[in-house]
Amino acid sequence: MPIEPLLPLFHRLNREHFEGRLAALADPPLQLRWSDGRMTRTAGLYRRGPQLCEIVLSRPLLGPLPAEATLSTLCHEMIHAWIDRVQGSREVHGPQFRTCMARINAGQAQFQVSLRHRYPLPAALAGWLAHCPSCGQTQAYRRRRQGLACRRCCERHNQGRWDARYALNFSRSEQASVG
Ligand SMILES: [Zn+2]
Ligand SMILES: [Zn+2]
Repeated sequence: MPIEPLLPLFHRLNREHFEGRLAALADPPLQLRWSDGRMTRTAGLYRRGPQLCEIVLSRPLLGPLPAEATLSTLCHEMIHAWIDRVQGSREVHGPQFRTCMARINAGQAQFQVSLRHRYPLPAALAGWLAHCPSCGQTQAYRRRRQGLACRRCCERHNQGRWDARYALNFSRSEQASVG
């Protein structure tokens, strides 16, 4: 799936939910970009230093997902920028953040902003695949984990208790480049 240009999305959200204020910031201005292929711990981040203020969105995590994941993540980071640069407040996910998030979520139906971005790790970045010998399901993991059993099978066949019959087999996944 092609990566969406971020600037039109930014300007639209800025106009609709942030009184146009986020495009007017100076010293430093708020910048916006897609990450390179290595940003996999978070879907998005907002940061400000003396010279640089920016929102970065994770290309490997958001690229494969539907467009509303990008909108929701971008809007989440724009709330951080709003609180930091416009409200001049030091909070992270505090009451101002929650109030702003609730207002935006109630005001439109295209996407929902949440406190945490929980998106699956694409298999190509995970490094390991865990295969259940019973149900055949495969899940992506960043690290190999000892003694893990298939949760679905343990719940379905064993009252949720661990059983060696459902122990996952780990194998190396192909390390595809996401450039
Ligand atoms: Zn946040
Ligand atoms: Zn299973």
